[in-house]
Amino acid sequence: MRCRTRENVMLRQRTIRKAVHAIGIGVHSGRKVRMSLRPASENTGIVFSRSDLPGAGYVSAKAENVCDTTLATTIGAGRTRAATVEHLLSALWGLGIDNLIVELNSEEVPIMDGSAAPFIYLIQTVGIVEQAAPRQFIRIKREIKVAQGDATALLKPYGGFRANYTFVADHAVYNRYPKTATLDFSDVSYSEEVSRARSFGLASELEQAQAIDRCKGSSLDNAVGIDDHDVLNEGGLRYRDEFVKHKLLDVIGDLYLLGRPVLGEFVGYMSGHALNNELARTVIDSEDAWELVSFADTRRPRGREPILQPAAVAV
Ligand SMILES: [Zn+2]
Repeated sequence: MRCRTRENVMLRQRTIRKAVHAIGIGVHSGRKVRMSLRPASENTGIVFSRSDLPGAGYVSAKAENVCDTTLATTIGAGRTRAATVEHLLSALWGLGIDNLIVELNSEEVPIMDGSAAPFIYLIQTVGIVEQAAPRQFIRIKREIKVAQGDATALLKPYGGFRANYTFVADHAVYNRYPKTATLDFSDVSYSEEVSRARSFGLASELEQAQAIDRCKGSSLDNAVGIDDHDVLNEGGLRYRDEFVKHKLLDVIGDLYLLGRPVLGEFVGYMSGHALNNELARTVIDSEDAWELVSFADTRRPRGREPILQPAAVAV
């Protein structure tokens, strides 16, 4: 069997080789935070802990633990909360990391440069190790759709992972760039094509966000800022379709709260963190709409066809 190597699809579970640390600020709190990523044993999943709250325990990166979706995704269990988890989770999906302990000494994951690229770089400096247990995927068997006003988000069957997103904004700057994108990860590299897309917003919206205690740490160092006429950042955009690609980066992080990577196609129209989370919760509640599959069978077929065709998922 000839297989193409993809960073986000592996047969076995993976974690990082050794601990690695980063210091940054929380984009919403404006507070300095130290984050440590530590290896975790197989079947742990992605879990967050707070070194500033001894004895508070872990919170798993699971859709059912999402407790706030105002401008970011926050998870919580008991006293342990972890905010703005979506960019880190997106990077972990991109690298195919299944098991990890994320330790924070404050509530919010550092925003770094507003994209997922610094997390990719951080993990690549220590390396990734394969574990013994097979990696499990959520294979979508029938369409699941949620809506909120005009916004919609759905997952439907597909033999790999493809994501399509469209946003609508009638604004001189947004009108100059693509508002829709489709990425099929059997031929697109997450690291190269998605991870560098930064958060973005209108400078005029920043004041409103700060009035509700959000975006207190936001600056052109961690977001693309837009005024009435132009992109304010020196150097402009990293991708011509950076805006819509960041929306896809967020979707990927929010969907990784399903606890396993999805095999299916996502289609989003104006969906944000709240609707992405509703979609994930609806998937969990719709047990007939998906099944857990593993690629271990493709290595050791026992007298029957593999559950999934290897070519379809670019193992
Ligand atoms: Zn984002």
